[in-house]
Amino acid sequence: MGISREQLSGWLAAYDKDNITIGVIASHSALQILHGARQEGFKTLGIAVGDNRRRFYSAFPGADPDEWLMLDDYRELLEQAEWLRKRNVIIIPHGSLVEYLGPENFRNLQVPTFGNREILRWESSREAQRQWLLNGGCTLPSVVTDPHQIDGPVIVKYAGAKGGRGYFIARDYRDFRRNVNLDEDFMIQEYVLGCRYYLHFFFDPTAEDGFQVQGKGSHAGKRLGRLELMSMDRRDESNVDEFYKLGSLRDLREMTLEPTFVVTGNQPVVLRESLLPRAFEMAEGTVAESFELEEGARGMIGAFCLETIVTDKLEFKVFEISARIVAGSNPFVGGSSYSDINEPNMSTGRRIARSIGKAIEKGKIEDLLS
Ligand code: ATP
Repeated sequence: MGISREQLSGWLAAYDKDNITIGVIASHSALQILHGARQEGFKTLGIAVGDNRRRFYSAFPGADPDEWLMLDDYRELLEQAEWLRKRNVIIIPHGSLVEYLGPENFRNLQVPTFGNREILRWESSREAQRQWLLNGGCTLPSVVTDPHQIDGPVIVKYAGAKGGRGYFIARDYRDFRRNVNLDEDFMIQEYVLGCRYYLHFFFDPTAEDGFQVQGKGSHAGKRLGRLELMSMDRRDESNVDEFYKLGSLRDLREMTLEPTFVVTGNQPVVLRESLLPRAFEMAEGTVAESFELEEGARGMIGAFCLETIVTDKLEFKVFEISARIVAGSNPFVGGSSYSDINEPNMSTGRRIARSIGKAIEKGKIEDLLS
């Protein structure tokens, strides 16, 4: 179902635009988002389950929300929509919000939300996402459709797995058969050997300056908005990052150990400068393509992340896109080697708040919300 433009306009017509509150579930990248909102002069609202979370945020006065909405269960948020709208709240979504509410509830949450919620339909289907990225000009790991054809390391990804849980690596068909759970949907992907870089971009359709994304297809010849590179990280993943210390994959299998890809933290990264133009080319193509996903598509809005592996041939392989702020932007609360060039201390969280502030001034706030 989702939220129509008319519904959104109706809600916003009743909003006091000089009195906006930035609301966020107190998890994931919320410290950064709340801090950034405060820097840009917004009131802030934290949403949480359980008093421990609230107490914990008091340890960070620079981000501690002005007000809290305490719930017994995150799904109660759906019933609080009117309460939130009365307070002129704009919700900033992140991965935990989508996970806690579930994708359908998130799409139908009756509160103005930063970004384009409809993009989730392309993001959450592996096949639709793959087509989007390919049409956007990204290079992707190849896919093996017949397990008998596995002839080199592959990674087997289950449909519903989050944060790489349950993925496994197989070297050949026997390996695959031994480990696979055939009751679940999965995709077999070439295992790309290289360095994993997560590129955090920001696309502002209301900004007319800077690097302008050129439209394609039905938007050919149009400038769609400003694309910025905010920062970059690599993830610490347990236990695959430390696995090698115990010996070869064969030794480890003998000990009945399998590598796992559970994210435990993030580290800042900068890319070889000569790779940046290609990174921009892929990000620009991905944004341009997001406007072509269906008739009348609103396209990407705000923060997104291309999750890549760079091989020793200096080639990017994009294995996933996240169409909202990612937790990998958290090392950059005080800015990054990229965002500092444009303006010091500009985190992605602050950039979101800045875009909201500027769009309100220009009377274009609806263009950033869904
Ligand atoms: P999230 O939603 O948190 O990003 P996910 O469950 O969608 O995670 P992926 O991001 O697809 O999982 O992959 C998890 C991890 O598996 C990656 O961070 C990376 O380390 C590894 N990985 C994924 N695809 C490949 C690949 N094709 N080759 C090598 N490693 C890969």
